[in-house]
Order: sequence, then structure tokens, then C-alpha cells
Amino acid sequence: MDLASLYSKMSKQKWKVLDGIFAHMWDYEFVPSELIAKRANMSPEKVEAILKALSDERLVVNKQLAYFGSTFTFIGLSLYSLWRLVKRNHVSMLGKLMGEGKESVVYNCYSEKYGEAVIKFHRVGYPSFKKVREKRDYGTLHFTVLTVRSARNEYKALRRLYGFVSVPRPHAWEGNAILMELIDAKELFRVRLTNPEDVLEIIIDEVRKMYSRGVVHGDLSQYNILVSEEGIWFIDFPQCVLLEEGEGEGESEKEDEAEELLRRDVENILNYFKRAYGIEKDINTVLEYIKK
Ligand code: ADP
Ligand code: MN
Repeated sequence: MDLASLYSKMSKQKWKVLDGIFAHMWDYEFVPSELIAKRANMSPEKVEAILKALSDERLVVNKQLAYFGSTFTFIGLSLYSLWRLVKRNHVSMLGKLMGEGKESVVYNCYSEKYGEAVIKFHRVGYPSFKKVREKRDYGTLHFTVLTVRSARNEYKALRRLYGFVSVPRPHAWEGNAILMELIDAKELFRVRLTNPEDVLEIIIDEVRKMYSRGVVHGDLSQYNILVSEEGIWFIDFPQCVLLEEGEGEGESEKEDEAEELLRRDVENILNYFKRAYGIEKDINTVLEYIKK
């Protein structure tokens, strides 16, 4: 997706129409064009014409139900979120595409406020959508709402952890986009460590600090830890569990889920270090240490 060139083709009226979808998407999977028209202060005919153009550009999907309704595509929502970041002066210039994961698209960007940074556009992808659904009862929530929620969850986790645990500094969150510090490092799986024992110790200590702040990552692996000569960083928190202060008496369902995820996270890391470096550690001892 070439966001920069799509961005340059937008008009004030098109932004207004996207803004109308965003305002009502919490209540409707397909937002009635009438509501968009009201918010944009345009005639419904004009709005529908614009929606058709936006659909040709694959930024929205329109559907004729009992009413004419519209929803964002992933690209449309990302473009709109970028616009909000720009409008609030968080982002001055979009840079090059850094990577496309299964659940995100990551861009380099420049910010007058924060310098070089990255924007992560969340996409709770269709393949994992079902999985997410099975796991928690999201009711009738649809893709756009889920994806904004996942961005919010990641932003909240980064905010809570930054300064205590080694994570990228979060700068801003808009829609499905998070603006954060650019980390100049490689994923753990790409690197051949010369001091794997030390790195594993650091990882375990950081996971312990995370836990003490009420955060369980939930998708910890050699893919979501960045390393360089300067240190290690944890990334990719949309699926993390955030426990509230005072929670943790072992009585809530969320607490059980956190325990389960923590075990799996630690298991993933220990398995990787065993496979890649022949280091063996007892998982129960490590878990005990983390929870102490
Ligand atoms: P996902 O794996 O769910 O698609 P990630 O948060 O892991 O999302 O991001 C995907 C990739 O983008 C990472 O593996 C990493 O290479 C890169 N990346 C993400 N955040 C940053 C960052 N703050 N600095 C540098 N690179 C990043
Ligand atoms: Mn990842």
C-alpha cells in the first residue's frame, strides 16, 4: 500500500467523509451515509458520490442495506489515522515501508516533535480474526473496531512500561496507528549472540519487571525482541493482558488468562534459547522468580 501517494490524492471533502465513518463506526459496521452527511455538513447525494469514489480507491466498502452504508478497509482506516497524526502535528512526513507483518504494516516517518520515528498500522487480520473471536467474547464487533482496540491496547501497554522496561517510547495513538520511537536493532532470531546466557538473563529480568507492572506480553518470542550492541527491546504488545492495580489475587478470569500467557511466553523464550544455544533452564524455577 502506497499511503503517501494515496494521501496526496485526497481532498478536504474526502477527509470529512472518512471522518464521518470514524465517528460512527463504534455503533455501525456499515455507517449510514445520512449520518456521515450530517456530520460532514454535505448533502447525502454528494456524500454517496464521494463514497463511491473512495470505494474505487479501495479506501471504503459500501453496502446497500435498508440504507446506504460504508465501512473502512484496512488501507482506508490507516490513511485516515495517518491524517489524524498529521493534523495533530505528530507526523510531518511519511518515510519508507519498513515491514509488513501478519498483523501490522510498519512505516518509517519523520516527526518535527520527535525526530525519526515509526508508525505501526494495526490490522487484526482476517485469519486471526476468528481466533480472536473464539478466545474472547467480542460480541458483534467488527474488523475496524477490533483493530483500533488492538492499537489502543498496545499504546496503553507501552505507556505503562516505558521508563521501567525496555520498550520503544510511545509518542501518539490515532485510530489503528501508533507512532513510536524507532529502534535501530534486529529481531533476536536474526542475530547470532556471543553472550546468550547474559541476554537470556536480561530478558527474564525484563519480563519480571513487566509482570510487576501488571503486563503480560502474550506473544513473546524471538520475533518480538529486538537486539543490538546497545541493548534489547520488547515490541508488539496488542494482545497483551493489562492487569489493574489490586488485581492479582488469582480470582479473576483475566488473572487466569495472564498466568497462562505468562507460562507460554516464558516457554517460547526458553525453547528458543535451548534450540539455538543449548541453554537449559527449568521453566517452573523461572516462573517462580518472575512472580516473586
Ligand atoms: P506484527 O508482528 O504484529 O506485525 P510488530 O510490532 O512485531 O508487529 O512489528 C513488525 C515489525 O516491524 C517488527 O518485527 C520489527 O521489525 C518492526 N518494528 C516494529 N516496531 C518497531 C520499532 N519501534 N522500531 C523499529 N522497528 C520496529
Ligand atoms: Mn511481531
